[in-house]
Amino acid sequence: MIILSFERLSKRYGQTTALNDVSFDVPSGEIFGLLGPNGAGKSTLIRILMDIIRADAGEVRVFGEPRRREHLDRLGYLPEERGLYTKQTVIDVMTYFGSLKGLDRGEARRRALAWLEKVELPQVASWKIDRLSKGMSQKVQIASVLLSDPELCVLDEPTTGLDPVNVRLVQDLLVERRAHGRTTILSTHHMNQVETLCDRVALINTGRLMVYGEVGAVRRRHSLPEVLVHARGALPAVPLVEQASGNGNGVWRLRLADGVSPADVLRALVERGAVIDRFEPALAPMEDIFLRVVKEAQA
Ligand code: ADP
Repeated sequence: MIILSFERLSKRYGQTTALNDVSFDVPSGEIFGLLGPNGAGKSTLIRILMDIIRADAGEVRVFGEPRRREHLDRLGYLPEERGLYTKQTVIDVMTYFGSLKGLDRGEARRRALAWLEKVELPQVASWKIDRLSKGMSQKVQIASVLLSDPELCVLDEPTTGLDPVNVRLVQDLLVERRAHGRTTILSTHHMNQVETLCDRVALINTGRLMVYGEVGAVRRRHSLPEVLVHARGALPAVPLVEQASGNGNGVWRLRLADGVSPADVLRALVERGAVIDRFEPALAPMEDIFLRVVKEAQA
């Protein structure tokens, strides 16, 4: 099921084209990576979704309908520019966020306390916001967005500035959302996070959609026909392989000849006596794909 569709969205700011005829779908229940270099148009797209700005052309559909104001209760958004009301207490601010999404105050407060436990900050409930460290404040903001359990939420760089323990904590929250069928759009520059966390990606560059698809499929599409082999001792020569390079540590990268499948190569290697610990297609890292696509667009 498709929870969100952008249909032929365009937006200009004066002479700048921020979005140029962008269309793509976000399936329900996924963690969806929204990628692109600075200035690509990601925030513009998100702001149109959140009804903060209006598109010049095109349509946004959510929950199977043209997006209406009333849908905003079911959407969550952690913007790039963070900000909380600094003189109030954490619990009051979080309760307020919950009530903005239609929860009654008692329920919002109860959830806020539960979410502070979840983000391992139960002690800060009565603190004033300005006493929070940067990392604490970021976790409080993420909890404030997630406490209404939005069906669809957009998080702009939620883990930037967090230590590895807290990065993992936030990632686990997103995986938990997915397990409950919730959809999360993750705008991020961390390509390893995309590989480990995202089901699907859209890569935008200068307002155009450049890459879209399931992460595995995108990586395969942008990969050379290569395999990585972890072997003990020397690797025997195999006719199906065009090129072999070793790193000196028992890891070999083999470029396969046209039309040769990895399984054929594995069989040929084993038949010739290779002792193999690990054998896998060499998928292009998302970072390489990102850099290549952006560079090619500039050329
Ligand atoms: P991203 O979020 O991917 O960094 P943005 O959507 O913020 O990209 O920006 C897309 C383009 O639109 C950029 O060239 C940016 O400078 C321009 N832009 C964004 N907001 C405004 C604005 N309010 N006024 C003028 N230009 C803008």
